[in-house]
Amino acid sequence: MVLHRVMAEQSAQLADRFYSYMMGHPQAKVFLSADVVHERLHASMSRWLQEIFRHPMSDPAAMVAHQRYVGEVHARIQLPIHLVSRGARLIKHDVHLALVSEFDDHQLLAKTVSHVGRLMDLALELMSVSYERSSQREARTDEAYRLFSIGQNVGVERERQRAVLMEWAHEVMITLHRSTDAVLLPTLRQSEFGLWFHHKAVAMFEGDAEVGQILDIIERVDSAVLPLIQPKGSQGGVHDDRVVELQFEVDNLKYLLNNLFERHQETENGRDTLTRLFNRRFLPAVVSREIGVTQKGGTGFALLLLDLDHFKRVNDEFGHDGGDLVLQQAAMLLMSCVRSGDFAFRYGGEELLVMLVEVTQDAAMRVAEMVRSKLEGSTFSITKGRTVSVTASIGVAMYNGHPDHQYLIKRADAAMYEAKQGGRNRVVLAT
Ligand code: GH3
Ligand code: MG
Ligand code: MG
Repeated sequence: MVLHRVMAEQSAQLADRFYSYMMGHPQAKVFLSADVVHERLHASMSRWLQEIFRHPMSDPAAMVAHQRYVGEVHARIQLPIHLVSRGARLIKHDVHLALVSEFDDHQLLAKTVSHVGRLMDLALELMSVSYERSSQREARTDEAYRLFSIGQNVGVERERQRAVLMEWAHEVMITLHRSTDAVLLPTLRQSEFGLWFHHKAVAMFEGDAEVGQILDIIERVDSAVLPLIQPKGSQGGVHDDRVVELQFEVDNLKYLLNNLFERHQETENGRDTLTRLFNRRFLPAVVSREIGVTQKGGTGFALLLLDLDHFKRVNDEFGHDGGDLVLQQAAMLLMSCVRSGDFAFRYGGEELLVMLVEVTQDAAMRVAEMVRSKLEGSTFSITKGRTVSVTASIGVAMYNGHPDHQYLIKRADAAMYEAKQGGRNRVVLAT
């Protein structure tokens, strides 16, 4: 079909024009100005144009998945939606112009132009769905990070919420026993516990199965249990079995809440209990923030991803507890090599990640090399006077202007993998 041929011929020029036009927009420029973005955007834009105008569409499911993916990337870099619309408007206009010279038949031209409009709108619609979903998720992670980072104490919160839940249950029972007529019982949703759960816990415990279960119980208690409980003197009397049901639901809530807090005790203040490093959960929020700071004119920063070498052997020889002790000491050693303004995370089991703020490439490499050599030169103590040495492979990625934090992490990961391939116990700088 003509459209596909035109796209195959002109997608590269279209991508060029798109890029230079968008660079004229001060807000868009922030996202686009790095060379790496230019290169990647140019290639992916050409591909995208050819893909959505291919006829017949060879793989609709892949097309849908691709649009969703683009939406996710846009959300991760927090690209304002109006810039996406602006870009789409420019492309539509350019494609229309490119088509005009291809058709003598006006009716056919009109049909093709309308077809282009529909396809573009469809692509945009699909992107928006995942954009919305992802940016809500990012916002919730940010909020969870904020709640933890302001130093909220999980242990204290747990006791407090248990207490307010019990207070509500007491209040219901007292209200029941004091009245002789039908009364309006205080709802769980409006109780202090209900408010806390809806507004804070949902953000704090984002993604945990218990959250949905607790929300269901709150809803069920208010809509199905409370309305059927009435004081003894009132018509119908107290439904004892309903009171038992209420008790049962309160116990259930306590149990689920306990599970939630147990699991998150370790993320108290966002830190991992074994290593005391930051929890990986906050990595996207922290790196995104730093990308924002750098885009606004800050100095560059670097990610340093470290994976302990042959750690399975340590576990095999000294047991899992022995391995844990080594991991703990390796994390302390890492902390001693970085400044207090840097962020150190437990990235995975025996993988640690540091974000070095305001560093040049040379400085980042020096820090990585220092960590590597200090690890190599240290012995870690395990119980009964036994000691062990470990080494690490380290990947270093400098922020290169690409606004997607996941892309930066991937580069550090690839460099670390290269260090492993190259024989371990070494530092590799990402390309
Ligand atoms: P290499 O990275 O050099 O390729 O070898 P490795 O032996 O470290 O291999 P791999 O990364 O595949 O495995 C990591 C091992 O680290 C698996 C697991 O036994 C151990 N490990 C991961 N997390 C923990 C932890 O929290 N505590 C302990 N003790 N061991 C852990
Ligand atoms: Mg590993
Ligand atoms: Mg390893």
